[in-house]
Amino acid sequence: RKPILAIDGPAGAGKSTVARRVAEQLNLFYLDTGAMYRALTWLVLQSGIAVDDEPAIAELVSQSHIEFKDYESDAQRSKRIFINDRDVTEEIRDVDVTANVSAISAHAIVRKVLVKQQQRYGSSGGIVIEGRDIGTCVFPDAEVKIFLTASVQERARRRQQDLKNQGKGEISLDELEQSIFERDRKDSTRAISPLRKADDAIEIQTDHLSVDEVVGAIVRLYLE
Ligand code: C5P
Repeated sequence: RKPILAIDGPAGAGKSTVARRVAEQLNLFYLDTGAMYRALTWLVLQSGIAVDDEPAIAELVSQSHIEFKDYESDAQRSKRIFINDRDVTEEIRDVDVTANVSAISAHAIVRKVLVKQQQRYGSSGGIVIEGRDIGTCVFPDAEVKIFLTASVQERARRRQQDLKNQGKGEISLDELEQSIFERDRKDSTRAISPLRKADDAIEIQTDHLSVDEVVGAIVRLYLE
């Protein structure tokens, strides 16, 4: 297979922005695994199932089908995510989904099914895959592994700026720091494949780096 570039890291470290740009520059596929956990979380909430009801979640997972589709409009190319044929690209960013996704992604059955799907996507390589456990669990043999970090304060500040730019109103830095901190705590303390830097991953601390600088550094590491 062709090489695999794995990008892991805590919430809000800029993984999606960076991974998408790296994939564009290197002409690789791009897979956002967080979007898959979010889509399933959206479906659980939509179905009125409690986030700790493992049997009901197992049943739901066995009946659900997640798909990414390319979408083109006005010369803009983007990927949209569907669960059971419903486009949930916008919905998966809702605060409700964000607040519950760590509980859903901690279930063994959820990880078993989604990890298998991710491994199928990446089986021929030539792909940038972004998440929490790509370098440790999904593709432990990935050729390039990056662990992207930034301080909680910096990640909250960036998130606040994003929300402002998207016209989604203003949330206090305290509140954003709290929600980022909580999500990292849950993701790094769960029993199965917790958020963790792989021993052979290269850590990039991005507090004082621009997106261009981070993308450039990763592209160089890949081409080396
Ligand atoms: O990357 P994003 O913030 O969209 O991920 C949402 C959530 O999905 C994470 O907080 C985590 O609970 C879960 N996740 C995971 N494993 C991955 C990617 C995401 O458990 N590989």
